[in-house]
Amino acid sequence: MQTIDLRSDTVTRPTDAMREAMLRAPVGDDVYGEDPTVNALQERLAADLGFAAALFVPTGTQSNLLALMSHCERGDEYIVGADAHTYRFEGGGAAVLGSIQPQPIPQEADGTLPLDKVEAAIKPIDPHFARSRLLALENTWHGRPLPFDYLGKARELASRRGLGFHLDGARLFNAAVAYGRPARDVVAGFDSVSVCFSKGLGAPVGSVLLGSTDLIERAKRWRKVAGGGWRQAGMLAAAALHALDHHVARLAEDHARAARLAEGLGTIDGLTVKGCHTNMVFVDVPAARLADLATHTAAHGVRLSIGYLPSIRLVTHLDVDDAAIERTIAAFASFAY
Ligand SMILES: *Cc1c(COP(=O)(O)O)cnc(C)c1O
Repeated sequence: MQTIDLRSDTVTRPTDAMREAMLRAPVGDDVYGEDPTVNALQERLAADLGFAAALFVPTGTQSNLLALMSHCERGDEYIVGADAHTYRFEGGGAAVLGSIQPQPIPQEADGTLPLDKVEAAIKPIDPHFARSRLLALENTWHGRPLPFDYLGKARELASRRGLGFHLDGARLFNAAVAYGRPARDVVAGFDSVSVCFSKGLGAPVGSVLLGSTDLIERAKRWRKVAGGGWRQAGMLAAAALHALDHHVARLAEDHARAARLAEGLGTIDGLTVKGCHTNMVFVDVPAARLADLATHTAAHGVRLSIGYLPSIRLVTHLDVDDAAIERTIAAFASFAY
């Protein structure tokens, strides 16, 4: 019985075609800027998304950290969602490594930071206060594409108040597919964007940070300081290039499968489908039954992640097909809640 792993879209393994592309990739020493495949990836994504420069890095956490450290200096502050990945799930790196103070703002259910609250949080220029320097958004957020018109409004505020504007676009392409718009339109107006290749796009490793030439120069320096200056990384960049060619449009299949999963789970007594957004389904069951449910589904070959969020989060991805969705629904249906 093949295991169906719905814990995250990070669990995908490279396809045979992706491994083939990795094997064939021309490589060089990227610290010298001499890896042709890394350079091709950086140039291509920068051109596609409308930025002057890009930097390939090992993880999304590092990519966000380099962005924060390139926008802000010691004693500066960035304004961020209280439930944003950079604030909650990156070990406090901005503060620990960047001496950057986060100013978290409670988010609405759709993931937006109310702009009046953002504006009220911007500190006056005065030695008593950290200097407010940056507004950071996340899209998608827990699978939700932010309302498209919100992006422009947030941009307007950032510009008017002289803040930099960063996007944690770990799942940018899921958002673009959900909006039915080119990814370029989704990142328009941001000063920097971080994109993950190791989530729904199915690459084993890698994220790209995009920005101006100056910002990326600073980020490159911080990447070296953080120990992220890598050498023949072209084999990994080849996987990301392969993903751009073959795994972007198909994200729509993941979204359709999540919708089918939500529909199937919605017919089961004892559980509540809280939401279905792009490739994520959120389900509530009585808290006392959570651990038993996970044991039960595991016995049916379905792996779940429980404990990080109040709801169970089920994530569809490249390695989850239609049959896996039906098997998952059956596994949930055969549990006594
Ligand atoms: C996964 C993720 C990241 C970065 O994660 P890494 O595991 O460090 O690559 C950043 N932001 C969001 C929203 C994510 O989901």
